[in-house]
Amino acid sequence: MEKEDASVEEISPGLEAASEVQERLGGDLTACFQCLKCTSGCPMADHMDLMPAEIIRLLQLGQIHRVLESDSIWLCAGCLTCSTRCPNEIDIAHIMDKLRQEAVARGIKPGNEKIASFHKAFLKSVKRHGRSFESGLLAAYAIKNGELMKNMGLGMTMFFKGKMPIIPKNVSGRKAIRKMFENYQRKLAEKKGS
Ligand code: SF4
Ligand code: SF4
Repeated sequence: MEKEDASVEEISPGLEAASEVQERLGGDLTACFQCLKCTSGCPMADHMDLMPAEIIRLLQLGQIHRVLESDSIWLCAGCLTCSTRCPNEIDIAHIMDKLRQEAVARGIKPGNEKIASFHKAFLKSVKRHGRSFESGLLAAYAIKNGELMKNMGLGMTMFFKGKMPIIPKNVSGRKAIRKMFENYQRKLAEKKGS
């Protein structure tokens, strides 16, 4: 008996998910031909468990879970180098933003707890001051991770160079920024409840 051709779903169970992922993240991910220009320019690539180009490839295959569980999306510094280097105009930096949002919405935390702790301290600082207050941010992070003494020398050097102000400078639109945080948290709670 002649064997029937395998269906597309049997060959690649990720295909359906890939189109959904693409719709959620925006941009034409299928345009990526793995030239690695994004990865070779990324200043954080040495510390990442998945390179930017690997992330795009996994998303093409609908493997969003593997991407959301990686530390790379949290290590991305949002410098936009990858987006400007991509010959196919894939906005990888924006995709990284969306992936972090997706991870938070799904309650997926980065494997390295220190990364999550730094992000929490950063967001708390922005919510409180309307911008990042470096001294408070680094102190909160160091205390949480038991690294206060380890970073003391660096902190003092930065302080004497005028890079670590003791008094925070709040932005004038602080209330509006706080409102944005509250709206986001409300929407996130609604999404989780639905
Ligand atoms: S935006 Fe993120 S992924 Fe892109 S080059 Fe910068 S650090 Fe790397
Ligand atoms: S630069 Fe663009 S096309 Fe090249 S690997 Fe990165 S995402 Fe793909």
